[in-house]
Amino acid sequence: MFRRILLTLSALTAIVAATVVISAQAPPGGGQGKGDGKGGDGKGKGAPQGQAIVQIKPGFYEVTGAGGNTSVVVTNGGVIVVDTKNLGEANYNDLMAQIKKVTNQPVKYVVITHVHQDHSGNTKSFIDAGAKVIAADGEKAELATYTAPAGKPAEPNVTYTKNYAFKLGGAQVRVYHFARAHTGGDSIVYFPTLKIVAGGDAIVNGAPNIDFPNGGSAVEWPKLVAGTLKLDFDTLIPGHGNVMTKADVEAYKTKWDNLVSRAEEQVKKGTPKDKLLASIKTDDIGWNVTGAQWTAPARLDPFYEELSKAKK
Ligand SMILES: [Zn+2]
Repeated sequence: MFRRILLTLSALTAIVAATVVISAQAPPGGGQGKGDGKGGDGKGKGAPQGQAIVQIKPGFYEVTGAGGNTSVVVTNGGVIVVDTKNLGEANYNDLMAQIKKVTNQPVKYVVITHVHQDHSGNTKSFIDAGAKVIAADGEKAELATYTAPAGKPAEPNVTYTKNYAFKLGGAQVRVYHFARAHTGGDSIVYFPTLKIVAGGDAIVNGAPNIDFPNGGSAVEWPKLVAGTLKLDFDTLIPGHGNVMTKADVEAYKTKWDNLVSRAEEQVKKGTPKDKLLASIKTDDIGWNVTGAQWTAPARLDPFYEELSKAKK
């Protein structure tokens, strides 16, 4: 136990030491916020929203602000980007200005972790600039019905079913759709040589948000976390909030496993739908499951339904 705490502390220290703020517009790990409510975050258009680029490891940067966290990998063959900020030309231009602070290489590949516009918002601008934009089949399928006040993001120009791998300038990239979780088209992006994972909104600090209307699933979610934990990494860029260690992701998996097994147990015992959320023990999990993101019928009905199926 003590040894594990020491390891965790040393991993954290390494991340803090490696984190260099290149622009002081926002604190490292800023850009927090729920991002997407039902159907995804609505904010988008307008003035640039305080983006900042931060080095996480040599050749790997995180851009915070203006929606979800964006990952940037710089190679001598071009740039790889994960997630594209809130929809809007000003946000795209600001993101490109952040990238230009660290490289003049063009963006060759973009991976979209999921449909919500605070991650997928500027797909079209990257395609127009000549990039391959990759997302899971589910992301493209959900776009057919997805809408947000900021507008509708464009479809990716490359899709995959289970996994997709590519190389650029010595960097290796593996993209996985392990399971439905935050949405039905979540991608986990793994950079094995850097030992970094970009988790999108499927792996976050704090309480997760299950977007059932866009294909999300509580019952499948732990499979996504388990698949991620099989990868050899020490640093994870969550969709929002501060950089996580592998130990943070292990703790997050325990919370998910507990939440789903306790909810299944309640359904098995016959707890009625309207009493379900309040009956789940969460004091050791720390997630508020009695807010609107859980109690709205569009969330609670499918949650109860998938738990009812899972118990059989
Ligand atoms: Zn999201």
